Amino acid sequence: MRMPPFTLHTPSNLSQALTLASELDDFDWISGGTDLLPNYKWKLNPKSDVISLAGVQELNTLSTTIVGAMVRIQDLVESEIIHPLLRETAATIASVMIRRSATVGGNICLDTRCYWYNQTEEWRRSIDWCHKCDCDTNADCRVVPNQNTLCVATYQADLAAAFIALNATIHLAGAAGARAMPFSEFFKLDGMTRNVLEKGEMVTHITLPDDVNEWVGGYQKLRLRETWDFPEAGVAAAWKLKGGRISELRIATTGCESIPGDHSKLAMEALLEWNGKESVVALSEAIRKAVKPVSNTYFPPSYRRKMLRVLARRAMSPLQDL
Ligand SMILES: Cc1cc2nc3c(=O)[nH]c(=O)nc-3n(C[C@H](O)[C@H](O)[C@H](O)COP(=O)(O)OP(=O)(O)OC[C@H]3O[C@@H](n4cnc5c(N)ncnc54)[C@H](O)[C@@H]3O)c2cc1C
Ligand code: SF4
Repeated sequence: MRMPPFTLHTPSNLSQALTLASELDDFDWISGGTDLLPNYKWKLNPKSDVISLAGVQELNTLSTTIVGAMVRIQDLVESEIIHPLLRETAATIASVMIRRSATVGGNICLDTRCYWYNQTEEWRRSIDWCHKCDCDTNADCRVVPNQNTLCVATYQADLAAAFIALNATIHLAGAAGARAMPFSEFFKLDGMTRNVLEKGEMVTHITLPDDVNEWVGGYQKLRLRETWDFPEAGVAAAWKLKGGRISELRIATTGCESIPGDHSKLAMEALLEWNGKESVVALSEAIRKAVKPVSNTYFPPSYRRKMLRVLARRAMSPLQDL
């Protein structure tokens, strides 16, 4: 498979990167390239211009409460200062070799995936394409047929669930300035648009609340091969204890829909009448009901939903005796 030609731009600071972005008609950011470049080789919506973030030092910060977009995922795994839930989640992503190139920003902005889309050009031609990469044919979606307005490709990045569970804030920058929002509000329920980034905007960093180290949590993931596969379902849970009781509980899912799910409202409702194992089981079932995967990844949707309940129970297992 040959890489389609593109012009690579290599700005050396944030301001240069944003100026370049405002001057180009259409381009992709590239950070580690572990997702973008395989997609380009498969001719999945390649662009003629690509802007590398490798030289933008402003994106490299890593502290207890700040994670820069260019921080490598393996650096999270090896960090002694980052929250253990982020460390644990990062360690489940791909393989060590991929994680040494892969970045946090690239993981958050990962393209959505679908059985009918993540295929070679020849394979996709044989099914007359699909809406997400239709080669100007107006092809329909293969998952929700007879329509070419909505793509339901699945968001399969792991870190988003952990960031939502830890109540993180995501920070963006563009030529018009910087803005920030709660992490779960970054995503858009559309497998093509994916998120709220405007033309020329990028993710710069993520911040965690000042009390992040008072939170405890866990991440559970279903995947085909434990060695490196994408999540078919993922559940992150994080909680805070006060006087031996759970004072706050946040749950997030990934790998099941076009966006990660924030189930913290359900979790906080469950806390009102918390009763140990019984509540863990009931909340896990409520999460299963709230998530609706479609048939476009390796495992069937019914199995992924059932496993969501199991994963949620495992992620919350320390709360069974409280
Ligand atoms: C074999 C294999 C296994 C994998 N397994 C997993 C897995 O288990 N879990 C998982 O989550 N992922 C997995 N991945 C996907 C991927 O490698 C990672 O998600 C990785 O973190 C992507 O980061 P990157 O820096 O390489 O992104 P890139 O490939 O450089 O970019 C990915 C996307 O994000 C955009 N982007 C990058 N940085 C920014 C930014 N700062 N602002 C705005 N947009 C940006 C790019 O334009 C592109 O659309 C796997 C990949 C492979 C090849
Ligand atoms: S969900 Fe539909 S439009 Fe989106 S990638 Fe899959 S087949 Fe294509």
